[in-house]
Amino acid sequence: MTGREPEHDCALCPRLKSFRDDWRAKEPAWHNAPVPTFGRPDARLLIVGLAPGLRGANRTGRPFTGDYAGELLYRTMTDFGFARGTYQARPDDGLALVDAAVTNAVRCVPPENKPTPAEIRTCRQFLTATIATMPKLVAILALGRIAHDSVAATLGVRRSTVPFGHGTVHEATAPIALFDSYHCSRYNTNTGRLTEAMFRDVFAGIRHRLETSHSA
Ligand code: URA
Repeated sequence: MTGREPEHDCALCPRLKSFRDDWRAKEPAWHNAPVPTFGRPDARLLIVGLAPGLRGANRTGRPFTGDYAGELLYRTMTDFGFARGTYQARPDDGLALVDAAVTNAVRCVPPENKPTPAEIRTCRQFLTATIATMPKLVAILALGRIAHDSVAATLGVRRSTVPFGHGTVHEATAPIALFDSYHCSRYNTNTGRLTEAMFRDVFAGIRHRLETSHSA
C-alpha cells in the first residue's frame, strides 16, 4: 500500500514505543513495529480496525493476521469477494485483497489492547494519509466505536451527527459512506454481541453499495 505509513521505529507515542521495545527484546523474531495497511490504494473499500493484537498483527506484521478476529474477518471478506486465496494466518499465505484494504486506527499494539485518546489522535495522521491516497474510496467499514470515531474525525464529520451503531450506514462525506460494525473480536463473538450472521449482513450492505455506486 502506498501513502504515508509510520516509520518502523516511530516514536510519536512514547508509551507504545516502550511497549514495542519491550516485546522486541522478548520476541526478536516478531514484527514488533507499526503494522502497515494491507491492500491496494485503488480499492473502493477500506476496513478500519482498532489496533494490532499483541500475538496477531504485532507478531506477523499484517493487520488482523494471526488472531481470531482475522479468521472471521478474512473468511467473511472472501465470501463476499473482497479477498482471494486461503487465509492461513501468515503474511506469506498468498491471500490477496480484492477492491479492499485493511488498516487500523492505531498502528502499534497498545498494552491491554487499549490505546489512549492521545495515541488515537496522534496516529490519526496515518489514517488520514491512507484515506487521502485512496481516490476510488466509496465505503469505509469501521470495526468498533474507536475506529468509527477516528474515521469520523479523519473525514471531518462531527461525531454527534454520525453516532456509532452496529449495522448503521452514515452518508459521511460523499461519495464515501461509513458502515459500522461491532468489532469482530473473539470477546464480541463469544458473548454473542456480534454473530457471524450480523457481520455478514454488514458485508452484504457494503457489497450492495459497491454494486450500485456510480464508480462501479
Ligand atoms: N488485529 C488487528 O490488526 N486489528 C484489530 O483491531 C484486531 C486485531
